Amino acid sequence: MSADPDCLFCKIIAGDVPGDVVHRGERTVAFRDINPQAPLHVLVVPRDHEPNAAASAGADAAMFAEIATTARAVAAAEGYDDYRLVFNTGAGVGQTVFHTHGHVLAGRAMTWPPG
Ligand code: AMP
Ligand code: ZN
Repeated sequence: MSADPDCLFCKIIAGDVPGDVVHRGERTVAFRDINPQAPLHVLVVPRDHEPNAAASAGADAAMFAEIATTARAVAAAEGYDDYRLVFNTGAGVGQTVFHTHGHVLAGRAMTWPPG
């Protein structure tokens, strides 16, 4: 699947919905989360619409690796070596937008396990 006309993140990627975009690559885009949970909170998304990380990893493992590479670059560009990369995968663990996205969180102390 490449784009879903009803998907919020596909609309941000296309520029049809505004987003605070910090990275536009050939296969990935990154924009700031509208409800940030840390001083740095960016969402890294593949341009190709898949509903979640499991589907993306199954469809295109190399592209999925690019999400991790993009996350590192976004964190580094903002001065962070340490960051948390989270993929909520499925409604049962809190996924609310069903277009694959990695949350890049940095800039504050974090606890483990997550809530
Ligand atoms: P998740 O719960 O993992 O599916 O995360 C979805 C994330 O998308 C949440 O952290 C929301 O704050 C974020 N979000 C929802 N709408 C927008 C938007 N228009 N622009 C940027 N981030 C958004
Ligand atoms: Zn989408």
